[in-house]
Amino acid sequence: MKARVVIQTADSKLEMAEHEVPRVTAGTALLEVEGCGLCGSDVEQYKGAFTEKGIVTYPLIPGHEPVGRIAEIDTEASRNWGVKRGDRVAVEPHLSCGLCQSCLGGSYHLCKEVRPTGLPAYGFLPLDFGHGLWGGYASHLHLVPRTILHRIPEDMPIELATQYQSLAAGVRWAVQVPKTAMGDSVLILGPGQRGLGSVIACREAGAGTIIVTGLKRDKHKLALARALGAHHTIVADEEDTVARVLKITAGRGVDVAIDVVPASPQPIIDAVGAVRIGGTIVIGGVKGRNTKVALDSDRILFRELTIKGVYSQGTAAYVQALRLLAENRYDLARLHTHSFPLEEADTAIRTLAGEVAGAEAISVSLHPDLPVSRS
Ligand SMILES: [Zn+2]
Ligand SMILES: [Zn+2]
Repeated sequence: MKARVVIQTADSKLEMAEHEVPRVTAGTALLEVEGCGLCGSDVEQYKGAFTEKGIVTYPLIPGHEPVGRIAEIDTEASRNWGVKRGDRVAVEPHLSCGLCQSCLGGSYHLCKEVRPTGLPAYGFLPLDFGHGLWGGYASHLHLVPRTILHRIPEDMPIELATQYQSLAAGVRWAVQVPKTAMGDSVLILGPGQRGLGSVIACREAGAGTIIVTGLKRDKHKLALARALGAHHTIVADEEDTVARVLKITAGRGVDVAIDVVPASPQPIIDAVGAVRIGGTIVIGGVKGRNTKVALDSDRILFRELTIKGVYSQGTAAYVQALRLLAENRYDLARLHTHSFPLEEADTAIRTLAGEVAGAEAISVSLHPDLPVSRS
């Protein structure tokens, strides 16, 4: 049996192909992909930012946010995962050994044992690594032992289900890591999927003041942030972010700031100026070629600020994100703007990147069973 797959062969180059589906052996399963979410990482990966850093090598099948149905499963895997043939699941992307210090310490998403060079995760492994069928831009995905799966209810629309990772990022980065609590003031720098996921997570945590920043071109995202419960929005290329935050918080500064802006280091500088004495800054936005940031280290010292990097999500965050998606008290379908067939993966990525005029994208997903558009 062959799977229909999208293969990235070079920077900004994708092509449709077929890939042999490996046999289901002890502890493994075959997933029939129903949809795959896209995030900023997909854009970076497409453009080649990860090959530059040696994180990925071509050719590979991209896609690290897959949701699908178990098509075939080994008895042992079925027992381990508590799922059977026909069940709908979301896949955690990280592969881990289960034995190293990171894994035993609970940070399995930081495990480097499975693949010491490069990222050991679905969507980032090359075709010549094991069976090769690792990416969500495909009709099928082969699941190996120790993959972590989450059950998805039958009645959850796929447009909601494919948001599980961006919402889990909001849960972990904006609430679990900085320990955001009832009444806290929070500055969310960046109004994309993860920024909006952060708004929802902060509301759930009972934050008292939620402030979201964006650019002029993000007007639709800032409007959605307010509709989801943000109390204030700041247009960062029109206003002074730090001054606005200090005004809103009566000069005190926010308890927590989360940076989810890709590429630009300015939000980190703004965060250092906008958090209160003893406040916490969480860095979640990958800066790619712009990682050198000029920070006022004395301000960090004298005000005893905490700066914490976050990479990826984790089971505890996925559980909460999937609960929020199942309850859907925030009408999360509003966040999903575009669905594309596999054949239009290029367009999907460029739409998410804001390179398609008038598209106003927020959450974008790929689906193997959608018809190819004729336009
Ligand atoms: Zn992602
Ligand atoms: Zn490990």
